[in-house]
Amino acid sequence: MMDGFMIRARIALAFFLLISCVTFGQSQRSPVADALVLHGKIYTLNSKQPWAQALAVQRGKIVAVGSDAEIESLRGSGTKVIDAGGRLVLPGFTDCHIHFMDGSLSLDRVNLDEAKDPAGIQQKLREYAKSRPGTGWILGRGWMYGMFGAEALPHKKYLDEVFPERPVFLEGYDGHTYWANSKALAMAGVTKDTLDPPNGAIVRDANTGEPTGALKEAAEQLVAKIIPAPTRAEKLAALRRGIKWTNEHGLTRVHSAGQDFEELDLYDELRRHGDLTVRFYIAYFLDPPELRPQDLDAIEAARKKYRDAWIDASVVKFMVDGVVESHTAAMLEPYSDDPSTKGKLFWDVQKYTDAVAELDKRGLQLFTHAIGDYGVRTALDAYENAEKVNRTSDRRPRIEHIETISAADIPRFAKLGVIASMQPLHADPDANTLNVWARNAGPDRASRGFAWHSIAAAGGKLAFGSDWPVVTLDPWIGLQLAVTRQTLEGKPEGGFHPEQRVTLAEAIAGYTLGAAFAGRREKTEGSLEPGKVADLIVVSQNVFEIDPHKIAGTKVVTTMVGGRVVYQSEAR
Ligand SMILES: [Zn+2]
Repeated sequence: MMDGFMIRARIALAFFLLISCVTFGQSQRSPVADALVLHGKIYTLNSKQPWAQALAVQRGKIVAVGSDAEIESLRGSGTKVIDAGGRLVLPGFTDCHIHFMDGSLSLDRVNLDEAKDPAGIQQKLREYAKSRPGTGWILGRGWMYGMFGAEALPHKKYLDEVFPERPVFLEGYDGHTYWANSKALAMAGVTKDTLDPPNGAIVRDANTGEPTGALKEAAEQLVAKIIPAPTRAEKLAALRRGIKWTNEHGLTRVHSAGQDFEELDLYDELRRHGDLTVRFYIAYFLDPPELRPQDLDAIEAARKKYRDAWIDASVVKFMVDGVVESHTAAMLEPYSDDPSTKGKLFWDVQKYTDAVAELDKRGLQLFTHAIGDYGVRTALDAYENAEKVNRTSDRRPRIEHIETISAADIPRFAKLGVIASMQPLHADPDANTLNVWARNAGPDRASRGFAWHSIAAAGGKLAFGSDWPVVTLDPWIGLQLAVTRQTLEGKPEGGFHPEQRVTLAEAIAGYTLGAAFAGRREKTEGSLEPGKVADLIVVSQNVFEIDPHKIAGTKVVTTMVGGRVVYQSEAR
């Protein structure tokens, strides 16, 4: 009988012998691994060998996967042994949509995502300000639209009550709307006479025309541009904190969807110091209105310099629309709560289509943020056109978010080989989703909201992520949401459009093998099998054997990246 393990073991042995000669010379008689993981319940995501007990690592790669006895034989005197203690072992997780520098900086700012109402926000801000006295800017993020009544937008008055003299500037949880107090608006010179910038709006009082403190989309820059930028040292310190945070949650690779390309040299510096323990795939963020020669120069220069297993910059991100909550997502039909608007595209369709075709021709991978069903259709059309005019295939262009979709477009993901990059936590059926998002989208569109299952069932490939710092990067909360479509408190009872749940295996694939495919790295990452990188995690509980409502409580025990243990929990 053919035994898959034996074949793999023989290949692995041949590889070992080769490595041994190179590494140790002829003196080393038997093959020896650098590290072994033993006594695990290893879920490999390799369909030919879905479960195993142990694996061996040599020079950062997996060289054998099998039973304890088989792998034990590869142990030498210098071999490091990780005893998984019967725990679940998984490939390291990838977050397919992240804003890493922003998230890292946010770790040291005020976090409002647990505040339930304006009074709760004021309380958080008071506490934060106490720990940072003085007159400097108070920066933070995470407030939700749902806490501000029917209007669903924040007002400067709540901030002025607490901080009449100190500037405050707070990013909404989705990063699309900002909230300034009167002091910040005054310092920035934003008054009722200030014009709205392109692709942005200063929200104004209906009677007086005075700015209310809410700034939509690009209007954020009116205030942001006067805030002192963090220094290089502050950014590096933030990135170190962010990387540690990431490894602690079991992530070994991230796909950056903006604001990290500008910092590539910082990531490179961390790498030179041996401090880069997360792999980075970093997109150039291409602003409208068009692809310019200087964009192409920057894109080409970066991908020549950064195209390896640790830092890869061969990807470009577009953003064709905004978000449902502030009516900036581009819809095919008017918003349900405001029939006067369908939102609008940030790009001219022809200029976007041309830019997609040019970048596709150059072999770059493309991400497009599209949330409204018209935005999603525009991206699908542009990708379809690019493949046709360039006669390319398997480029794996991606659409990010896809919060609403026309039923007619669901099968196009599979047909065109477009990847659906989605964030389970964005479908968290909290007050924001149910009272604002679902109200604005209306029942018909909401029935195809965050349609993970429909896209996957039609053959489309899913990739999961967080959009950190929009929501936490904790993938265990994401996994729970993906399989329950309920809040962490278990609401609503039957789940929010529960027909769009995915199975636990699908959800894990979305963070591992599917994520690797979505970053064009499935040949070397995403599953635990010989030849792939040794990026893996040992976790506190077997998520396959517990109540799905407990998955979010999973803790990472060990994180290994490239064969090196980069995180080990103290509670073992
Ligand atoms: Zn994003």
